[in-house]
Amino acid sequence: MNIILLGPPGAGKGTQAEFIKANYPILHISTGDMFREAVGNKTAMGLEAKKYMDAGQLVPDEVTIGVVEERLSQPDCSNGFLLDGFPRTIPQAEALDKVMAGLGKRVDLALEITVPDSIIIERMTGRVSCSQCKAVYNTNFNPPVKAGICDKCGGELVQRSDDKEETVKNRLQVYAEQTQPLLGYYEKAGKLKSLDGNRDPQVVFKDVQSLLEKF
Ligand code: ADP
Ligand code: AMP
Repeated sequence: MNIILLGPPGAGKGTQAEFIKANYPILHISTGDMFREAVGNKTAMGLEAKKYMDAGQLVPDEVTIGVVEERLSQPDCSNGFLLDGFPRTIPQAEALDKVMAGLGKRVDLALEITVPDSIIIERMTGRVSCSQCKAVYNTNFNPPVKAGICDKCGGELVQRSDDKEETVKNRLQVYAEQTQPLLGYYEKAGKLKSLDGNRDPQVVFKDVQSLLEKF
């Protein structure tokens, strides 16, 4: 299955992707993680992307589409993938359909996770993730056993530089303006399913599982 995860920043896409990966043999591709890796490696693309990420803006379509096209053409994508954070604009969704058609594949499901903005700000300002294994925690809702240390691998927990309140507000505005139109795009294609993400992560995952079992 090829699935895309939709929803505002902080909706819990990465959290649900971890549950899905642990239960189904599917590859998780996060464009945010790919950009953060490029920023960490100080590649030319990473340095370009960083300017937009720090401002809470989207990396331009021509850069993002190129990165995803290249990734999806790799052999490990052949058994299905979970795209997290892509597409985020209509041109990205159109480019994805084109690439998929070229590979003889299609998007099977667009899964939207909804959460009110007021909750998102609380979630994002409390988000910390492991600098080694990337596991995600929340100092308010899902704290690690030992503050600052990953329960799974003992790595150091760090806050993302774009999770400051001001940047989060920009990101929510960008989501409303540029990404929300995708809901109509996938609804028209009969591929959209929406879930209430404002519940315990395990409860949200139960709904995700019932949806996936139908496929
Ligand atoms: P996204 O990938 O959509 O940006 P994340 O999965 O990183 O979102 O979640 C954002 C923050 O909210 C993280 O700190 C995570 O631990 C927390 N979180 C995720 N899902 C829930 C939930 N259902 N209830 C409370 N907090 C959650
Ligand atoms: P995320 O980890 O999904 O919250 O993404 C972090 C940041 O990476 C976003 O705020 C954007 O600046 C950039 N980014 C990730 N995915 C995309 C995308 N599909 N299109 C444009 N920019 C993106």
